[in-house]
Amino acid sequence: MAESSPDIAVIGAGVIGCAVAWELARRGARVQLIDCRDVALGATQASAGVLAPYIEGHDKAPLLELSIRGLALYDGFIDRLRRDGHGPAHYYRTGTLETAADGDGAAALERHAGLLASRGVDAEFLDARAVREAEPHLAPETAGGLLVRTHGFVNAPELTFALWEAAAERGVHTRRSCQVTRIDRDGSGVRLDTGEGVVKARQVVLAAGSWSGRIAAGEGPAVPVRPVRGQLLYLEWKGAPLRRVVWGPSCYLVPWTDGSLLVGATVEDAGFDERATASGVHDLLGAACALVPQGWQAGFAGVRVGLRPATADELPIVGRSARLEGLVYATGHYRNGILLAPLTATLVADLVLEGRTAPELEQMNPARFGAL
Ligand SMILES: Cc1cc2nc3c(=O)[nH]c(=O)nc-3n(C[C@H](O)[C@H](O)[C@H](O)COP(=O)(O)OP(=O)(O)OC[C@H]3O[C@@H](n4cnc5c(N)ncnc54)[C@H](O)[C@@H]3O)c2cc1C
Repeated sequence: MAESSPDIAVIGAGVIGCAVAWELARRGARVQLIDCRDVALGATQASAGVLAPYIEGHDKAPLLELSIRGLALYDGFIDRLRRDGHGPAHYYRTGTLETAADGDGAAALERHAGLLASRGVDAEFLDARAVREAEPHLAPETAGGLLVRTHGFVNAPELTFALWEAAAERGVHTRRSCQVTRIDRDGSGVRLDTGEGVVKARQVVLAAGSWSGRIAAGEGPAVPVRPVRGQLLYLEWKGAPLRRVVWGPSCYLVPWTDGSLLVGATVEDAGFDERATASGVHDLLGAACALVPQGWQAGFAGVRVGLRPATADELPIVGRSARLEGLVYATGHYRNGILLAPLTATLVADLVLEGRTAPELEQMNPARFGAL
């Protein structure tokens, strides 16, 4: 059986594992990336790639702060990746428009717009007329909207492949179809038991998304991450596209420049079942076409399904294990893994290579769930 000794083994080639591997390699580490399937086949392949702290994080203070910090890092992150020759083609900061279907909803958005503007966010409330001028495809009964200009979106699978290619060029070796079953302490490093033999490393980063808790790490409870299924539709939009991400009461729409319109997303407790369902497709289609009636003319290109890695407090788990020296967690990113990938990669690299514990790690500390 093959045995190899990178400085750092990263388990999971989703957006988090690929971002961490690239950042570690950029800083000179010898990294091995291990996935039981292939690159970007977990939750990441189904992600809508929306970068929008002021929608997803509305009133949850720690997540909102992390998300704002995550978004602030994005331009620089994409620039560095492009300088490495591998930026994603589809990265846009064209804003989001959150819409309301009735007067009460519009009043709430107007209050929220005022709050954001008072904090210096480039946000504006649009009344019923202005909202339809901004997005002419919206249903006539749309009562108002909140425009946040700094938001954006990225093609998440494309980003992840770009990270992986850039990492590979910096020497990261990838093992595909290699399932890690156990992590243990081994002399001055760690030992990974895999279906393909043993991997030894100085340190290991566990970034296996929803499956992180299925990998035994020393003795003690598994990391408490559970799968939350999300279905995402791909439509082929006909005619003039939407101008930005549109958020409605029951779905959101992401317009890619190639004419694809992404419709997200269901939020379901379905265990590890990654299958699409008729009801998921039905509900998303109904919600999308209530928002933009012209959606009924769109082609149906398919549905993607992913398992979001959720934690009890909806915050990621990032930091050192208290019980297994050399193990670092980077998991539990739930609905914000794309948005938080640059921040996570920076924090993990600081921790693993320089022993630096940034203040943000306090909020994501594994210790809040016991002796992990
Ligand atoms: C429908 C949907 C829409 C979303 N929209 C957004 C959005 O708009 N914005 C946003 O920021 N986030 C969004 N998310 C969330 C985001 O996609 C996730 O938070 C993110 O993809 C998690 O990345 P990850 O790398 O942690 O996990 P994953 O992408 O799931 O990757 C984990 C990897 O670990 C591998 N693995 C598992 N077990 C093992 C093992 N034992 N050994 C080796 N490898 C293993 C898997 O094969 C997989 O490749 C969305 C998610 C879904 C499902």
